Amino acid sequence: MVTALIIGRFQPFHFGHLKLIEWAADHVDSIIIGIGSSQESHTWENPFTARERRRMIEKSLRTIRNYKIYEIPDVDNDQIWVAHVKRIVPKFDVVYTNGELEKRLFREAGFEVRSTPFFKRNLYSGTEIRRRIASGERWESLVPQGTVDVIKDVNGERRIRELARFI
Ligand code: ATP
Ligand code: MG
Repeated sequence: MVTALIIGRFQPFHFGHLKLIEWAADHVDSIIIGIGSSQESHTWENPFTARERRRMIEKSLRTIRNYKIYEIPDVDNDQIWVAHVKRIVPKFDVVYTNGELEKRLFREAGFEVRSTPFFKRNLYSGTEIRRRIASGERWESLVPQGTVDVIKDVNGERRIRELARFI
């Protein structure tokens, strides 16, 4: 039984995240999804609550069933990041990430780290999707329908446009 860990802020959950999870699901038996910066919401970089992000993921992962979601608040110290994560989530064998710092921290802690190609990184990017929402451009094609539904349901476009006024 191989268990993979995938951590993201998922602000919002987009097709790049979905493809990363699908890639991992093809190679492991079960997946732990960690919602990072879980304590943050209603800021420009982290507009959605952990609960809203959890709903986006649950509504978007249709064919994948062998996963569980955990919330991981920040610690402002990279040296204790891996130990902090290990205290929150169940045992895992391999970490799937495309983040350079995360790769380094988990490798140094002795974990196997696997990466995937970036899928349409200029489009499938939380930063790009938040920018599009703030400027009134089309963004719906960059995220699964589950994410569209949650953002519409919580009036997320208006929330992001309001937050954009303060940056
Ligand atoms: P932001 O722009 O807000 O940082 P993001 O798109 O980078 O958002 P994160 O939640 O920071 O999303 O990333 C979570 C994980 O998903 C990281 O390992 C990241 O490298 C990976 N990831 C993000 N976008 C893609 C993509 N398009 N293709 C493959 N992996 C991706
Ligand atoms: Mg990122």
